Amino acid sequence: MVFETIIKGRKKVAKGTCEITFKRPEKFVFKAGQYIQIAIPELLSPDLRGNSRLFSVTSSPDDLENIRVVFRVSTSGFKQTLVSMPVGATVQIEQAAGSFVLPQSPKQQQIFVAGGVGISPFMSYFNQENTPFEKGQTTLFYGNQNEESAAYVTELRAFAKRYQSFSLQELYERPSSEFFRRNAQMYKDATWWVVGPPAMVGVVVNGLQLGGVDQNNIITEPFEGY
Ligand SMILES: Cc1cc2nc3c(=O)[nH]c(=O)nc-3n(C[C@H](O)[C@H](O)[C@H](O)COP(=O)(O)OP(=O)(O)OC[C@H]3O[C@@H](n4cnc5c(N)ncnc54)[C@H](O)[C@@H]3O)c2cc1C
Repeated sequence: MVFETIIKGRKKVAKGTCEITFKRPEKFVFKAGQYIQIAIPELLSPDLRGNSRLFSVTSSPDDLENIRVVFRVSTSGFKQTLVSMPVGATVQIEQAAGSFVLPQSPKQQQIFVAGGVGISPFMSYFNQENTPFEKGQTTLFYGNQNEESAAYVTELRAFAKRYQSFSLQELYERPSSEFFRRNAQMYKDATWWVVGPPAMVGVVVNGLQLGGVDQNNIITEPFEGY
């Protein structure tokens, strides 16, 4: 199903990183972790990859008014158009899709690994009204080039202060497989959820496998196109 909707707002959430809010159509449903396809009717500049992209939803499924997505701004015709379109402009979004659905009643410890804007699906989960932090132990490894480019890091630090069952590890160096191999041994029975650029996801998964994590306990969402 395709919905026509409008841009409600735009916000800088980190260095070179933009969050866009769309009006949530009444019949639009999704689960924390899923993504949407956004299509722009007319691009301002040409783009070899066309007029649509996939983005994970950042806002919570409980937010019935808004759908938010977050991305690094670049020179691509698609993103240049998206950051220039006025509030009220129309875009098309497809019904949410994807099997990367974060569990509402986790049975094991959850380890989340986000590279850059790969934080998006986890924010959708964290921002739910019925807070997931009290449902089990969650650790988030969050990798960015530096603090200025770490979207939502202030909110995440506040969650970590407030909930004992949530721990945040900020990483500001390129993660190595060795780092994740060592951590895999500490959290062998946890479920690992890994999101970010494909190369980063590959490095993390390699480390987890070397560290002995069962393949069934590694769930990934590579942001193809990065
Ligand atoms: C399931 C799924 C979910 C996804 N979710 C998200 C999401 O939540 N957020 C998200 O951002 N992406 C997400 N992606 C990826 C997204 O769909 C795009 O493929 C990605 O953002 C790259 O965008 P782009 O094609 O506009 O290219 P970009 O990589 O943004 O830009 C490409 C162009 O810009 C140039 N360029 C890029 N960076 C720079 C720079 N710093 N300086 C100068 N030139 C530059 C390149 O040379 C090229 O010309 C997801 C993908 C999948 C499959």
